[in-house]
Amino acid sequence: VHEFDLIARIRQAASDDPRVPLGIGDDAAVIRSAAGGEVVAAVDTLMEGVDFTFPPATPELAGRKALAVNLSDLAAMAARPLAALVAAVFPKRRGAEFAGRVMDGCLALAKEFNIALAGGDTNTWDGPLVLSVTVLGEPTARGVVRRDGAQVGDAIMVTGPLGGSLLRGRHLRFTPRVHEALALHDRFDLHAMIDVSDGVGSDLQHILDASDVGAVLDAAAIPIHPDVQLTDDGRGLLDRTLSDGEDFELLFTVSPDDARRIEQASLAVRIGEIVEADTREIVMPDGAHIALPRGGWQHRF
Ligand code: ADP
Ligand code: MG
Repeated sequence: VHEFDLIARIRQAASDDPRVPLGIGDDAAVIRSAAGGEVVAAVDTLMEGVDFTFPPATPELAGRKALAVNLSDLAAMAARPLAALVAAVFPKRRGAEFAGRVMDGCLALAKEFNIALAGGDTNTWDGPLVLSVTVLGEPTARGVVRRDGAQVGDAIMVTGPLGGSLLRGRHLRFTPRVHEALALHDRFDLHAMIDVSDGVGSDLQHILDASDVGAVLDAAAIPIHPDVQLTDDGRGLLDRTLSDGEDFELLFTVSPDDARRIEQASLAVRIGEIVEADTREIVMPDGAHIALPRGGWQHRF
């Protein structure tokens, strides 16, 4: 059983609720109060040994990443971050100073993005470090950008180069694209958006599934991060670029007109086009069409 199969099952079992206009299935949920105010909320849990290891991570970088991945989910909604809650399970054997350094890393990023640390939970055990961060944000006056708004004819765009995030520790130091998302949302009509956590191969398919459309990617247009190196594992450059994941760039779709203006302003690059459902392909530099790889990391049972 894969992570996404289980989430699909959970989603079916959880009934719709008018207080949750956008629930399971997007990067963050939208929760509406009786007075009509809306909060955007996301939670993500990071585990030592899976999401980071010491070294190359430091305690500060682990704390930083736990908040950063959550801010990235708010960015994917083009929501404005307000506050975070941090639930931590600290390894007893590493001591209290270690725990303080984890929280320092978290707090430094909170300060950078001008959000409040509003609360959390502190535990210790004999296991590895586990950090679960909840972030709360608010929609701008233009509302949030969901995964299900992609339209046939849209351009598919990405805010930065992809691949190799784990090779040089970029996954520990990346800047969540909060400001970029808000700037794009303010100036353009973003139809659908997601952050690249699992790799474009996988994350684009979430937009396609939610929007009931297809896509044709242009391999030659996909920006490859310099961190990507050909390794002896037999995987090619493009495969790494599409499925390494943890890039935390934004992947979004807009009208061809907006795409031109966005490229002129150097805010993102166009990597493909939304087409009718059933087609999910990538056009290779030699003109060959191949199936878009699902790729990417999935938790399994
Ligand atoms: P992301 O990679 O953007 O953090 P995930 O792939 O982790 O998103 O989750 C996909 C969707 O499923 C999200 O809307 C998330 O809130 C929801 N989800 C994941 N696990 C659970 C769970 N155990 N219970 C309820 N919803 C869940
Ligand atoms: Mg996400």
